[in-house]
Amino acid sequence: MTHIDFTAILEARRAIAPYVLRTPAYRSAALSEVAGHDVMLKAEHRQTTGSFKLRGATNAILSLDPDARQRGVCAASTGNHGRALAHAARMTGARAVVCMSRLVPPNKVEAIEALGAEARIVGMSQDDAQCEVDALCAAEAMTDIPPFDHAAIIAGQGTLGIEIMEDLPRAEAVLVPLSGGGLIAGMARAIKTLNPSTRVIGISMERGAAMAAALSAGRPVDVEEVETLADSLGGGIGLSNRHTFAMVRDLVDEVVLLTEAEIAAGIAHAYRVEREILEGAGAVGIAALLCGKVRPRGPVALVLSGGNIDMASHLDILTGRHPACRMEHAHG
Ligand SMILES: *Cc1c(COP(=O)(O)O)cnc(C)c1O
Repeated sequence: MTHIDFTAILEARRAIAPYVLRTPAYRSAALSEVAGHDVMLKAEHRQTTGSFKLRGATNAILSLDPDARQRGVCAASTGNHGRALAHAARMTGARAVVCMSRLVPPNKVEAIEALGAEARIVGMSQDDAQCEVDALCAAEAMTDIPPFDHAAIIAGQGTLGIEIMEDLPRAEAVLVPLSGGGLIAGMARAIKTLNPSTRVIGISMERGAAMAAALSAGRPVDVEEVETLADSLGGGIGLSNRHTFAMVRDLVDEVVLLTEAEIAAGIAHAYRVEREILEGAGAVGIAALLCGKVRPRGPVALVLSGGNIDMASHLDILTGRHPACRMEHAHG
């Protein structure tokens, strides 16, 4: 298990600069009132493709040698990583194939194709899609770019940590959505290098928080995958995790878990008060402040990590009709 160093993040920043937006950061008057300290929102949901995943995906493709880039990249994700990889491949002139099962809805297939990637539909599960990725890697020497446990991905996501410390150099804490840990590992490395006293706090949902379970067990463990409003935070960290588990264990100060109702309240606040459309994963920092599970001791920055929520669910949350609005705890 190895850490990614700050130099790799600096190099990533230079490499991806022409392809990604430097997203805005601004003070939230309402949340500063709630927290009793300045609260800065880093609007990464306004990144091209709607999430920070473009940073890592772009850096990973640029790290390949020209031959490998020509042969192409593939992934089994139809979520924010697949979308980012498709877009990054087109911008950098690489071929991209996104593998998905027959259960993936047609609008997602079209979205991937609209980004210029080839959609390959196989089997009936995510595992079948991953098998096709493995087959493409073997048969056509394509490169599988995983969503978080990969040095170039972590370095790319870490660029967000540099930007936040430029915008709020004396941050007491930075709140970061946490799933596989690519984002928080890269960001924590950058933040602790630039200001060792800034706390880095990971936020996950109670339902199926794989990294939190691994930290308690002292090693990666299997967790049951369940439906959550923070769908981009679902999934395991990999039993043979190479980088993110060790980096999160060594660099992250605290991990906070939220109920579905708390996440729903974060999404609703973002829309009603901040006038931002956030997906569940993107709203967990706001949610953690609103419910009081994180109490800042000074100025804080929150990463609004993504905005890709379908409009029907968003409307249900705003009107209180979504079942999550009534789910206080994971069990029961
Ligand atoms: C992927 C993702 C995360 C979590 O990132 P990890 O690197 O897996 O921890 C958080 N928010 C959004 C919107 C994402 O797409």
